[in-house]
Amino acid sequence: MIEQKIRSEVRDIIDFPKDGIVFKDITPILKNPALCTEIVEEFVTRVAHLKIDAIVGIESRGFLFGMLLANRLQKPFIPVRKEGKLPYKSIKTVCDLEYGTAVLEIHQDAFPAGSKVLLHDDLLATGGTISAAVDLIQQLGGNVVACSFLISLNFLDGKKLIEEDLQKECIVLL
Ligand code: 5GP
Repeated sequence: MIEQKIRSEVRDIIDFPKDGIVFKDITPILKNPALCTEIVEEFVTRVAHLKIDAIVGIESRGFLFGMLLANRLQKPFIPVRKEGKLPYKSIKTVCDLEYGTAVLEIHQDAFPAGSKVLLHDDLLATGGTISAAVDLIQQLGGNVVACSFLISLNFLDGKKLIEEDLQKECIVLL
């Protein structure tokens, strides 16, 4: 099963980036091209019914499989980045994180209004980042049809927030 394969390639890093945090390091997955292909194909299957127009990936690890999936589906890939990184005219939103806030931005011409957007990131924790990204997409008139992740931290309520509060489909592989 793909779940077991992903679990076996994810590395727990204790006390990173600060004391008390166990960080899920996905970089070993990237060294396994056969598993990368399997992950992309699994996402292809899981999103097939959504008929998406574009994929938005969140800086930076959301770019990895977000871009692979977009290219596999022959759909546009759009980056959401941290403040001050995007070169063209952008809109912004504030993102509530576990400790403090961050600003996320997207180009104002990212996709046409009414587009069906799949929002992608590597990992779902509290859901603060993905909620901010949903807000950005909605500001541009986009329709977030689902959020997808490689990993969800089940001891946090991110999945519940997406499904119950935001009323979006939540696709997680592990
Ligand atoms: P949230 O906003 O849901 O609390 O946190 C999710 C965001 O933080 C994602 O953009 C994700 O990349 C990053 N993140 C938080 N914890 C981890 C972790 O343990 N591993 C990885 N790979 N990313 C994490």
